[in-house]
Amino acid sequence: MLVYSLYAPYNIPHTQIGGILMAAKCDICGKEVMFGNHVSHAHNRTRRRWKPNLIKTVAIIDGKKKRVKVCSKCYKKLRKAI
Ligand SMILES: [Zn+2]
Repeated sequence: MLVYSLYAPYNIPHTQIGGILMAAKCDICGKEVMFGNHVSHAHNRTRRRWKPNLIKTVAIIDGKKKRVKVCSKCYKKLRKAI
C-alpha cells in the first residue's frame, strides 16, 4: 500500500455514524481496542476498554482517493511525509 498524500481530517465521531457501530481500527497499522481493568481506590475492578485515537481522513492510496480511518500517530507520520 502506497500512501503519499493526505487531506485535512473531517470530523465525524469515529465510533458511530447514523447509529451503526464501526470498528475502531487503524487502516494503516491495525491498532485496535485494548481491554483492561478500571481499578478504584478501594481496589474494585471493573472491565474497561481503551479505543485508539482515530482520525477520519482522505488519503491517496495507489493513485486513488480513499476515505480512511487512521490513528493519530499514523496521521502525524503521513502529514509529515507530504
Ligand atoms: Zn495507525
